[in-house]
Amino acid sequence: MASAKYIFVTGGVTSSLGKGIISASLAKLLQARGYRVTIQKLDPYINVDPGTLNPYEHGECYVTEDGAETDLDLGHYERFLNVPTSQANNITTGRIYLSVITKERKGDYLGKTVQVVPHITDEIKNSIKLLGNTGKFDIIVTEVGGTVGDIESLPYIEAIRQLKWEMQSNCITIHLTLVPFLSAAGELKTKPTQHSVKMLLESGVQPDILVCRTEKPLTSEIRRKVALFCNVATEAVIESIDAESIYDVPLLMYKEALDKVVLKKLNLTSDKEPELSVWRSFLQKLKYPKNEVHIGLIGKYVELKDAYKSIAEALIHAGTENESVVKIHWIHSESLLDENVSEKLKGLKGILVAPGFGERGIEGKIAAIHYARENKIPFLGICLGMQCAVIEFARNVLGLKEAHSSEMKKDTPDPVIDIMESQKKVTKKGGTMRLGAYTCNLKPGSKVHKLYKEDQITERHRHRFEFNNKYLDQFQAAGMVPTGINPLSSLVEIVEMPKHPWFVGVQFHPEYKSTVDKPHPLFVDFVKAALETK
Ligand code: GLN
Repeated sequence: MASAKYIFVTGGVTSSLGKGIISASLAKLLQARGYRVTIQKLDPYINVDPGTLNPYEHGECYVTEDGAETDLDLGHYERFLNVPTSQANNITTGRIYLSVITKERKGDYLGKTVQVVPHITDEIKNSIKLLGNTGKFDIIVTEVGGTVGDIESLPYIEAIRQLKWEMQSNCITIHLTLVPFLSAAGELKTKPTQHSVKMLLESGVQPDILVCRTEKPLTSEIRRKVALFCNVATEAVIESIDAESIYDVPLLMYKEALDKVVLKKLNLTSDKEPELSVWRSFLQKLKYPKNEVHIGLIGKYVELKDAYKSIAEALIHAGTENESVVKIHWIHSESLLDENVSEKLKGLKGILVAPGFGERGIEGKIAAIHYARENKIPFLGICLGMQCAVIEFARNVLGLKEAHSSEMKKDTPDPVIDIMESQKKVTKKGGTMRLGAYTCNLKPGSKVHKLYKEDQITERHRHRFEFNNKYLDQFQAAGMVPTGINPLSSLVEIVEMPKHPWFVGVQFHPEYKSTVDKPHPLFVDFVKAALETK
């Protein structure tokens, strides 16, 4: 079997140029040409994973099937490729050092001095080769976080330099840079790109392709200039102009022939054009919606939209599937009170209460659910959102006035949401939640059974607390029923209210599994219900 080919994507000039989207778009085109592709992200920070990071620091934490807590770019990779990622797809400096130091403590280095070069760089190289060695992929796109010139990126760039030397034509580097437009001069400027490439050259890496982010089209003169000063072919200077939607980028890259240039440099052939019919029809529906629907997203990080990235994208997919545009109203849960909730949520046709941790904003979430339940507005509660729905029902329907989650109130007399038995002794914070994919049996005839069209599903989890089964009979008798149960642990994964037009709470995170190819049925049906709400 031929060995896997590697494409490294580095970034220059500034952060936020969209390396993740460029990587995902290129991977999409190569996949559409019939190659088996995956994408890996190298993150230069010292946290072992982003699971312990506050969303304000790093946006959403994306969870993979195998329970890895990863960078939100992995969400884009899955949404674009519709192929699951895993722990191997996200490497951090913290993870690299943890592994090296663990080996050192075991004595694996046989008395040697352990150093950045070669020990850290070897560890990085091994982690990069891991996906290629599985035999499951023809091409691995590896995105290096941060910007070239950052102190913390240096070991990664050195690892890439060595790999380029070892793998020769089996590996290329794409550098994403900025070509700014100076309005005072009325011109695009190439100097920042030249400097950025020089910086890469100082580390011994010559980029093979330059992707230039720009607000204005690159003229052929600019392309020639960049090519000449940065030692790349003119055809390898790719324009990446600002796009209306991230989902436009694969087609923009196709127009620029990025995929063709990449294949040529990797000595790969492709006799057919990329098969993008599903993608194109998705874009068509996205661009020309027939209807519009207003949905409230209640959370406590709403000023930072990245904290709910996968939910927002899942709503876009679901809207498109319904040939409609979903207008998300980002509502801060701390601003909601029983007294103002009907005013603040007026006109919304669907209410989604987001996942989260800790006490802040919890009463606002409960007030929103109270409003949605009583006014028969479609409601979707995700993880903490489902837990809040259970608390609301306990307080306002079962009359358990002090009901709460033991996460928020340890000594509540009615812990309707309680810590899992297996979590009671856990003191370490990193990687210790109930994480990753678990199976769930759906109750025949329930709403979820109808919309998933399956008896058993698997969904991804990330939490410590659960529905307390001691209260199950009481809930069921009063109209909130469990319709999804974990077959091994009997944990309640889904609750519904059959008397309400659309009221579903899920303990898992369906948003992680929504992709362009497969919009998630739960979101699709939720948006459909919202569209039908008068
Ligand atoms: N904080 C809750 C728990 O740990 C919910 C977590 C979440 O919403 N992801 O159970």
